[in-house]
Amino acid sequence: MRWFLFFTFLFLAPACSPSEQAGIGTPAAQPETGWPLHGRDWREQRHSPLTEINTETVSEIGLAWEYIDILVRGRTHRGMEASPIVIDGVMYVTGPWSVVYALDARTGEELWYYDPQVEGAWIRKGCCDAVNRGVAVKDDLVFIATLDGYLDALDIATGERVWRTDTFTDRTLPYAITGAPRLAGDLVVIGNGGAEMGVRGYVSAYEVATGELAWRFFTVPGPGPDESEAIAAARETWGEDTRWEFGGGGTVWDSMTYDEELGLLYVGVGNGSPWPKWARDPSLGDNLYLSSILAIHAETGELKWHYQTTPGDSWDYTATQNIILAELEIDGEMRAVLMQAPKNGFFYVIDRETGELISADPYTHVTWADGVDLETGRPIYTEQSQYGEAAKVVWPGTPGGHNWQPMAFSPATGLVYIPVLEMPQRFELAAQEVVRPDTINVSANVRAPPFQEGDPALGTSHPDPGMRAVLKAWDPIAREVVWESSSMSWWNGGVLTTAGGLVVQGGSEGVLVFYDAATGEVLKEIETGTGLMAPPVSYELDGEQYITIAAGYGGAQLARLFPGMAALEYENSSRILTFKLGGGETPLPAPRPAEPDYPLFEGLSTDPEVIAAGLAHFRGYCGRCHGPMGAPNGYPNLWNMSPATHENFNSIVLNGDLAFAGMAGFGDALSEEDAEAIHAFIGATQARIRAARVTQETSE
Ligand code: CA
Repeated sequence: MRWFLFFTFLFLAPACSPSEQAGIGTPAAQPETGWPLHGRDWREQRHSPLTEINTETVSEIGLAWEYIDILVRGRTHRGMEASPIVIDGVMYVTGPWSVVYALDARTGEELWYYDPQVEGAWIRKGCCDAVNRGVAVKDDLVFIATLDGYLDALDIATGERVWRTDTFTDRTLPYAITGAPRLAGDLVVIGNGGAEMGVRGYVSAYEVATGELAWRFFTVPGPGPDESEAIAAARETWGEDTRWEFGGGGTVWDSMTYDEELGLLYVGVGNGSPWPKWARDPSLGDNLYLSSILAIHAETGELKWHYQTTPGDSWDYTATQNIILAELEIDGEMRAVLMQAPKNGFFYVIDRETGELISADPYTHVTWADGVDLETGRPIYTEQSQYGEAAKVVWPGTPGGHNWQPMAFSPATGLVYIPVLEMPQRFELAAQEVVRPDTINVSANVRAPPFQEGDPALGTSHPDPGMRAVLKAWDPIAREVVWESSSMSWWNGGVLTTAGGLVVQGGSEGVLVFYDAATGEVLKEIETGTGLMAPPVSYELDGEQYITIAAGYGGAQLARLFPGMAALEYENSSRILTFKLGGGETPLPAPRPAEPDYPLFEGLSTDPEVIAAGLAHFRGYCGRCHGPMGAPNGYPNLWNMSPATHENFNSIVLNGDLAFAGMAGFGDALSEEDAEAIHAFIGATQARIRAARVTQETSE
């Protein structure tokens, strides 16, 4: 049974040196040597001006320190996705369960940590693990947005909470936060996720000093009166038969970039809920502001302009990927632009003052559209994109051509370095069914390769439908790929560029790779044994340059581990790794422990009807973490449960005995009988897997 869901499931003026560029619009409070903001500078270019570690010296790089107490402080090893902030010699970084760590940036010594005590069961309301992408720091306050929806301001010296505000409009709805708050003047801004569960997206801005709500911008209309002119305009693009019980979607779960020069906050908006337009709203409307980039006046919360990347989105094509600001010379004219490579596979360059589309070109294989009409700004949809009861294989799949792992821009090379994913998915409309509480409700079935030979869903022409991750250097002016890395294991890492001529990226194999930014030549590789997804950052202290990465695999893709991934070979040990010239060896984690073959559990129903009912519940509630059946997984292995787990099965499933670790109880949605059916299904599958293995071993 091969089903499984992916959840998400420049300023290039030659006359100006990089340091001069960094000075433009940069307040004095942001030292050149640190990493003070999420993307280092307000343009979120993820470019370090430091040069000590460079194309010549990088061969001498090694481990300066590691911080390994993530498990001790943070409950479980889970995905690490944070961009550390480094100010005045202190690193502020987050791990799973929204725990904040303040570390001495020279030594890794823990100065304080803050555990917001996120309710473990809240993970059920999130699509993609207990990850967190980092903090913001301003005026001696550290801001963390927690998985369960609170925005906390912490004392920078002690980590004690100064204020807390609840960012959720309704705590009964399946909202969750994984993103990093951003600063916009005297405001701190945060959105949330949940479009796959059925919620209405919004972004909120709070006063830095007090946590008082300054404004809130909803991204899609709601059931009540329109909150703003922008929402009234959006409503015109939604039909009368819209299924509002799904919330509309449009969550702002990651990208927000604040333009200090124009006072605009650019917000990337997520996919629709449910996924297929024709299941969400059968009208011909575009469903604003799904899959859009919004430019919001930061002081007032009013919309200045919007650009919708995927009108009527039906493929989980979020425009929540990171937004980079730059000044580019285009056709002889300097333009203030923003750049984004959203999931839909096109690289967009947009005038950030007016919202005018300058260019849109595919950076990965794309079959849902033949291109983007630059006059109208609209994509040219293909027949192949229109799935329904008849399935269609479409590029990119729901993980997108690029996901949350941030791309980076180097003003020195003028190139954008994109962690690209290449994979199609087979989409089909699901039968409409009961909306399950607090879990995935997308009304579509999607399947990853391989596909059956001759499947009509493939259409007439298609490249090899495999899965590939690759780093691409993209020229945003020439609108073409300049170089690309060799392929890496599925699911790659965020990117750092440096004035030392380097591009630095990790991946799920656990190797941190240093590329020559100009040519793509691999100059150095560091084997860490830990899956790397987070973007590296760089800073300087006492004249020494450091490069740091939050290491640890997880997030949306923990449900299935592929060959070559570090998490298959080693314990998935979440830790902070920091490197410098002359550093030492990086210790590898302990090997992934072998599991004993636990005995098959006796006494489960073997009634095919019960097992079929168990499968349906499994798919509805369990499979997004514990599937696919029998394949290596980053979560506890249900296909080889210990006798103790079998004994306590119903209580774990219904009462949430293991909720602290993220196994929520489902007693609100499932009965004793349902739990027993799931148990019967797991038992039958376990027996089948065991028998198949015995057959295979015998035949070898
Ligand atoms: Ca999504």
